[in-house]
Amino acid sequence: MARILIVEDERKIARFLELELQHEGYEVQTAGDGRTGLDKALSWKPDLMILDLMLPELSGIEVCRRLRHESDLPIIMLTAKDDVSDKVMGLDMGADDYMTKPFAIEELLARIRVGLKKHRASATPVSHVLTAGKLTLDPARYAVSWDGTPVALTKKEFDLLKYLMEHKGQAVTRDALLTDVWGYDYAGDTNVVDVYIRYLRHKIDEPFGVKTIHTIRAVGYMFSYE
Ligand code: CA
Repeated sequence: MARILIVEDERKIARFLELELQHEGYEVQTAGDGRTGLDKALSWKPDLMILDLMLPELSGIEVCRRLRHESDLPIIMLTAKDDVSDKVMGLDMGADDYMTKPFAIEELLARIRVGLKKHRASATPVSHVLTAGKLTLDPARYAVSWDGTPVALTKKEFDLLKYLMEHKGQAVTRDALLTDVWGYDYAGDTNVVDVYIRYLRHKIDEPFGVKTIHTIRAVGYMFSYE
């Protein structure tokens, strides 16, 4: 279910949009000023944001400008007046689309669908096959093989190996692995990383008599193998 963040200080409009979007099956959160909106955009990680232009604390333009440093979240800007310079500025600052109030809800819903679809299309990762010597990892097929022989890995083992191979020759910390492979939920419990490194060594290094995953003392691990 797509998440939509509504940043709008006019409560009646915010409430109306919230109900309409929930009715369409979206998960919705609202923010009544620009600063809260920016914070929620970064922490809740919505799939799309509806952003009013005239907001207290931080203007819609400013929210857009700051957000664009960190996120390619689709933004539909709402402008109270049909002011061309505001629209142009909003689009310059990275808004994907805009609507002038008052608007027909059906039109907004249509634009939301377009925004979400475009974003999903651009977010689809281009999967490159990773290789190191006889080891091959194909992200598109979720397949790992050694010299043509399939190696059966669990999803998490696969994700971990993929991350290590993508950072071939670089020492990666346990914290980075936890954050990027496991996500924030596991933050703090780095034992899980060591456990999974052991699983990988057991499935790759040991059976094939090689050393692909190296322990970097006081840091973490490094994948290095040609
Ligand atoms: Ca406003």
